[in-house]
Formats: sequence, C-alpha cells, structure tokens
Amino acid sequence: MLQAIALAKEGMLGGNGGPFGCVIVKDGKIVGQGSNMVLTTKDPTAHAEVVAIREACKNLDNFQLDGCEVYTSCEPCPMCLGAIFWARPAKVYYACTKEDAANAGFDDHFIYQEIEVNPADRQIPMVSFLREESLKAFELWKEKGDKELY
Ligand SMILES: [Zn+2]
Repeated sequence: MLQAIALAKEGMLGGNGGPFGCVIVKDGKIVGQGSNMVLTTKDPTAHAEVVAIREACKNLDNFQLDGCEVYTSCEPCPMCLGAIFWARPAKVYYACTKEDAANAGFDDHFIYQEIEVNPADRQIPMVSFLREESLKAFELWKEKGDKELY
C-alpha cells in the first residue's frame, strides 16, 4: 500500500494526473502498478487501477487477475470498480475513501446516482436503437463453437 501511495504522489507531482496510485500483487510479487495518467495520455479512462490492471494482465498474459490482490491509494471509482470486477482479483485493499476523494475535488457520487436513472433520462442521454440488428452479433456468439469464455 505504501508503494501505491508513493505512486499517487509521484504521478501527481510529475503532472501525469490526479493523486492516485495502484499496485497489483500475486504470490507476494508486484505484477502490475500505475498511477493516474489522465493528463499525460489524454485518456479519461487512465485511472491508476485501470493502468495497473492493464500492466498486470499483460505481464501475466491473462485477461483475469486470478489470485491477485489490488492495493489502491483510494477507494475505486465506479469505472474502476467495474474494471476490477471484470478482472476478478481475489481482494482489494484501499487507503482513502471516496469521501476523502470528494473532499479533494474528485467527486464520483453523481456516477453512482446516474446508474439508478433510466438510461434516456441520464445527464448524458443513452438511447437504444438498431437492437434487432445488434442482436445478430449475440446470436453468432451463442453459436460460436470455439469461443473462449471469460
Ligand atoms: Zn477510477
């Protein structure tokens, strides 16, 4: 966790992004780490957890973080929470809370609220169309015999 917090400070002081760091450990060894890189990469998804998950998965040559522990300097935002669940590590440790992040100007509470709102009524309206056409991709997936499940 101290390494995650050090990455948070270093990344922020280096102008890479906000003060967030993350380290992923497997069998007592660091397999991936990162800090928030939103500013330097111009990538709004480059949160510390996502950066670290990408590095860990690349190093492990796997799309899952089986048996891994995630150490993040702050409680994950909704995007990172989703990414963590897709990556399926064994456990997540976090230092600061989302309330601490909000006090520092990183308030993600509105995203939690938006999840509850009808898609078309969200602040960014989300409208379904061409559903029948897109369902064909799911049909192909269901019929695909050699698919790798994840
Ligand atoms: Zn995040």
